[in-house]
Amino acid sequence: MPEFRKEPVTGRWVIVSTDRAKRPRDFIRTQVVVQKKGICPFCPGNENRTPPEILAFRAHGGPNQPGWTTRVIPNKFPALRVEGDFDREPDGLYDRMNGIGAHEVIIDCPEHIASLGETTDTNTANVFWAFRERLADLKNDVRLKYTLLFKNHGEPAGASIEHSHSQLIALPIIPMAVQEELDGSRRYFDLHDRCVFCDIIRQERRDGKRVVHEDEDVIVLAPYASRFPFELWILPRRHASHLEFAPAEIYRGLASTLGRLLRKIDRALECPAYNFVLHNGTMKETDSPSYHWHLEIIPRLTRVAGFEWGSGFYINPTTPEEAASFLRDTIA
Ligand SMILES: [Zn+2]
Ligand SMILES: [Zn+2]
Ligand SMILES: [Zn+2]
Repeated sequence: MPEFRKEPVTGRWVIVSTDRAKRPRDFIRTQVVVQKKGICPFCPGNENRTPPEILAFRAHGGPNQPGWTTRVIPNKFPALRVEGDFDREPDGLYDRMNGIGAHEVIIDCPEHIASLGETTDTNTANVFWAFRERLADLKNDVRLKYTLLFKNHGEPAGASIEHSHSQLIALPIIPMAVQEELDGSRRYFDLHDRCVFCDIIRQERRDGKRVVHEDEDVIVLAPYASRFPFELWILPRRHASHLEFAPAEIYRGLASTLGRLLRKIDRALECPAYNFVLHNGTMKETDSPSYHWHLEIIPRLTRVAGFEWGSGFYINPTTPEEAASFLRDTIA
């Protein structure tokens, strides 16, 4: 059974997931599990190689058969488990909790492609619809407080299977990085009676220097204090705290913007590994005036080293203004 352990000085939680048991020799650099020639468990026809699906959008066929366009399955090697009791207990001065939560894989599309930028906008929109459905469904589990949706693309970004997929981890606690954003935006709101992200959008649109793209639905920015070269945020233009309550039209717009952006990144930076993370409102709230959902994209171009570990802040060798201008000029 995995467990949460709390570091007593800063209050940071760690998941100790012994089910993914690793012996020292397992840490020797592993190759991406599925090579082009191998059998891919995420390709249609291989549904029996994964745990039974939780959700699938399909044109034809029955559950766990080919015919799907986007498919959600439990992670075969979960960091957390849905079953079990949620008991929180002290261990001397330490705190521990059972590793309750959900860990799911969203197989983005049936085609064996590595990047979401290579599939159709319709398919990418389906991925966001799958996010929406899973977010809504996981809310029924009252033990859970936050669902983090993310993608690891490429081995340096943590992907172990090549076929394009996203993941979600639903947690019984709100992660510290998310809590910091929630608290910061709440403080700004208390002071100004406005959403800080809406204000950022207003100022960036006026200024234009860090805007990569904007349309009716979304805006893409290289944030003012980007931690990494080519860090990008996609935000909805109209205030909304939760992706799952967004109007239907936005999914299509979001999908085509993300697809175009990923193709630009591939062209400009020669297909780097990247992560994206959805920063969303918490599961208990339905609508927050102070928080504004967004997707953060981080191409993995630099390595986190001693200074970053020691200080918690980042040295970014590329200005966001340069990154934005470079991507504006790149043809998707
Ligand atoms: Zn595949
Ligand atoms: Zn807002
Ligand atoms: Zn964020």
